[in-house]
Amino acid sequence: MPWRAPPGVVPDPYKVWLSEIMLQQTTVQAVKGYYEKFLRLWPDFAALAGAPIDEVMKAWAGLGYYSRARNLHACAKIVVDEHGGKLPVDVGSLRSLPGIGAYTSAAIAAIAFGKRAVVVDANVERVVARLFEIREPLPGAKTVIRQKAELLTPGRRAGDFAQAMMDLGAGVCTVKKPACLLCPLHDFCAAGAAGTAESFPVKPPKAAKPLRRGAVFFLRRADGKVLMRTRLPKGLLGGMAEFPGTDWSANFKSRQALSHAPVEANWKKLPGVVKHVFTHFALELSVYSGSAPRGLRAPKGMRWVVNSRIAEEALPTLMRKVAALVEGKAPYKRS
Ligand code: SF4
Repeated sequence: MPWRAPPGVVPDPYKVWLSEIMLQQTTVQAVKGYYEKFLRLWPDFAALAGAPIDEVMKAWAGLGYYSRARNLHACAKIVVDEHGGKLPVDVGSLRSLPGIGAYTSAAIAAIAFGKRAVVVDANVERVVARLFEIREPLPGAKTVIRQKAELLTPGRRAGDFAQAMMDLGAGVCTVKKPACLLCPLHDFCAAGAAGTAESFPVKPPKAAKPLRRGAVFFLRRADGKVLMRTRLPKGLLGGMAEFPGTDWSANFKSRQALSHAPVEANWKKLPGVVKHVFTHFALELSVYSGSAPRGLRAPKGMRWVVNSRIAEEALPTLMRKVAALVEGKAPYKRS
């Protein structure tokens, strides 16, 4: 985790909440810089609640799972408007807030407020499945894993216990080559004793992700500006910036792509495709590049952006890949 309270320091619920939201389905390595940037820009709930949503989306760009950023902002507003700027302390009230599910509510209640809450993330899941050699495959095994975790959770210092279990999973009881001989739980661990740790938790067979395809249009005007638009606030990549394009579908017909171009232009299809994998599907985008005369007005709902400022837009990784293909270089990095 990017944030830990030093011994004797009362945890700051804002920092615990921020780090837990950012760490949902994202690695510590990826989160670290974003966490520090958010704290610098918005050090507390009031500051974040008062920030324009566009600025929050821009600061989040590149971290993925963008509904988290919208929920983060919505949650900060509710905390300020309805809870006097302080997070509620119990699991039930926490869970009613945007972006806070079963795991996150338990983690905040335990770590920030010392409540006895059962915290089960993927690391804890792995440790518990190995301790008890739980042979049922995931996700069905989640119920019994949770029951076992409940039995293990102490009445006092549940936050320290949760963090210790998560750290053990991340650093010792790793997916591959767990360090069983160094593990403080070795004497109590069924899989550790049997040498079968890597077989747990039992995973279901992987289903192939369905493929969707589409096209995207990179139009550069003679003054160097590029045509962009903002996606609708709800849904996949909601509120993020993008180059205009077609819908993404399993039935995409590439020969009809140009009928969806935002304007008529000298469109040229670039070699290759941009590939990206979302949670529920894989995507392949064909990229068309074109040029437009100086003074061409942007179609309704679109805007021209100075090329050198594209990297400052709330640009998701997918669109960075598109820009990189057009420019023939590595994806734009944010400062
Ligand atoms: Fe994991 Fe091995 Fe420790 Fe068991 S003994 S908890 S399998 S690292």
